[in-house]
Amino acid sequence: MTLSFSDDLSGSMVQLVFPQRICLACGSPVSQPGICDACAQKAISMPRCRHCAAFVLDENELCPSCLDGHNHYFTFARAVYPYEDRMRDWIQAFKYYNKTYLRRPFAAMLFDGYQLYFADKEIDLIVPVPLSSGRLKERGYNQSALCAQLLAKRLKIPYTEKGLLRVKETVALAELSAKERRSCLRDAFSTSWTGLQGKTVLLIDDIFTTGATASTCAKELLDQGAKTIYVLTITAVVI
Ligand SMILES: [Zn+2]
Ligand SMILES: [Zn+2]
Repeated sequence: MTLSFSDDLSGSMVQLVFPQRICLACGSPVSQPGICDACAQKAISMPRCRHCAAFVLDENELCPSCLDGHNHYFTFARAVYPYEDRMRDWIQAFKYYNKTYLRRPFAAMLFDGYQLYFADKEIDLIVPVPLSSGRLKERGYNQSALCAQLLAKRLKIPYTEKGLLRVKETVALAELSAKERRSCLRDAFSTSWTGLQGKTVLLIDDIFTTGATASTCAKELLDQGAKTIYVLTITAVVI
């Protein structure tokens, strides 16, 4: 998997179209921001890991990370759409190219994902995966927080960024193996916030890759007294 921004899309598409009006996956016109019904149906019917958000090739199988027991700190994770095609470019534009207006279509996708996979759960608190203060200063915004906040507002579920702090920034995780990611992420998150006691938390992020970040965050939240951690991301890798 590469995380490079497609050359042909870096200028033209991202700047010239109105992402509120087109499906972020296939580009067809939509009446609501996010993805079209056909793309939503395609994602729903794709096989995925029973435990985490990764899309897998074999139905009802666990992905390699879950099979090895590495993603066990969260109860369950789901992503709305696979990290592929146009969606990759929109995520990259959102994350690295200052296209913060994409928070609305992405929040709409998260809302649909919540309705599909978490509507029967009693979520007490929505928490985004944090950036370190250095990275936040450099980027100017936390893309996961932008859409998590909109999601929480729409669902009328309490939201906080105090639930989790990133005390150590990690190198580009995309370049690392699953094992390297886990060792790199050790001690990367911390919290001293006391509001987590007994809470069921929905953790929000933009991409689910190996689950190392989500699992490390979940562990920290549990260590600080949270009861159950669920994870919802906009996209997940296909493995
Ligand atoms: Zn579509
Ligand atoms: Zn898995």
